[in-house]
Amino acid sequence: MKATVRLKLTLGFLTVLALGSVASMAILALLSRSLGELERVVTVSDVIDRKSLELRFDMLARSDGMRGFLISTNRAEYERKRQADADFLADVEDIKRLAPTGEIPRLVAQAAEMDEKALEKIEQEILGTIAAGDLELAKVAYNRDYLPIRRKQEAVISDIEKETGREKQMALAAAERSYAMARTTTWVLVVGVGGLGLAVSLILARNLARPLVRVAESMRRAAQGDLSDSLEFDERSDEIGEMSRSVNETYVYLKEMAGVADAIAGGNLEVSIAPRTTADSFGKALEAMVRKLSQMIDDDSRNGAIKNHYAGDGGYFKAAIDIYMHELIARTEEQHKAQLRCFGGTTGGVIYDEGTVSSCENLSPVGNLRDYDWNFWALWNSPEIKVRRAQVKQGCFCTHESNCYYPSLAFNPKHLIQIKKLEWQLKRAHPAELAANEDLAVPTTHRS
Ligand code: SF4
Repeated sequence: MKATVRLKLTLGFLTVLALGSVASMAILALLSRSLGELERVVTVSDVIDRKSLELRFDMLARSDGMRGFLISTNRAEYERKRQADADFLADVEDIKRLAPTGEIPRLVAQAAEMDEKALEKIEQEILGTIAAGDLELAKVAYNRDYLPIRRKQEAVISDIEKETGREKQMALAAAERSYAMARTTTWVLVVGVGGLGLAVSLILARNLARPLVRVAESMRRAAQGDLSDSLEFDERSDEIGEMSRSVNETYVYLKEMAGVADAIAGGNLEVSIAPRTTADSFGKALEAMVRKLSQMIDDDSRNGAIKNHYAGDGGYFKAAIDIYMHELIARTEEQHKAQLRCFGGTTGGVIYDEGTVSSCENLSPVGNLRDYDWNFWALWNSPEIKVRRAQVKQGCFCTHESNCYYPSLAFNPKHLIQIKKLEWQLKRAHPAELAANEDLAVPTTHRS
């Protein structure tokens, strides 16, 4: 995936957000769990406290019922004792349903077992003794056998109450520890996310802001006419890289246009100008300027504004060739296609100092006279030059006057007719010069 500036910013933001969110959720979970546990323990402890009191009350009611029955043998006292038994068992079950932790289940089971296996048995024996009418023996059994076990049972219930209080304290301590941990984690989170945010900001600033400042500085220099700079971020795959490439291409383009302007200022109207797009107003303006200058020169030539000598009867024809040829050259530059068939390599060629021969100065040599024993015609009829001629025939074009237009115009009948027509027009426009054999106007631009 392309590492764009937008992607980098998004990832940086999401990273900080994700870390902050995860840490916050962890703290919340920790606190929630701790509070839940605390709430559960406190609730259970409170209920067990209350139930312990009820157990004590049940035991008290049972003992009181026993004593009442011992003293009065009143059946109502006996029923009060039975009801206290039932209430005791019901309270024990209530405590078990709370599912207490730690030592409490064992202590509750112990209290219930004492009630079920020891006290109940003694109670039944005492009640049997009372029913048999031996109250004294029943009192002895009550004091000797019943009361010690009941005291032990009360001690167990006290242990339940103590254990309940201890568990509550432990839960409070655990909650306190959780709160302390959450507080520490929160501070770590604040510092960590802050540090991470700072680090991300510094990285982004270094990664994004520095190149932007560099581009702004470069553009400022360019705005003052200094096109020598070249940005160094072309290799980046993000928007900064795209901007760098675009700016560098703009510099290349502007330098190219400056070179064209220099060439025009130096009198070279053959300079090649190819607008890059239909929206290339600068290139189109330069192209139009060159075309206009060529046109002006041609017009001046027609009107005799620029002086050159075309003496003799052939002067009008030579002037017509030059004027017509310049129009063809301008059209070639404008349309970028051949305006005539070039006979370079057929009616004209080039021989260089070291013996190489070519169809023209624009194309590479086709051979060397040394390889033909300095026999030009042998080379000129070689297979290589024939290949070159076939290649040129395919529509080769350029703006070279002496290599292309002069050797070729005479062999392009359509253009030759136009040149003769122009010659006739010149003669009609400048009869005085013809009569006086004076100067005719022709272009002075040299294109070869
Ligand atoms: S058109 Fe120009 S480049 Fe092509 S063969 Fe003729 S002179 Fe050479």
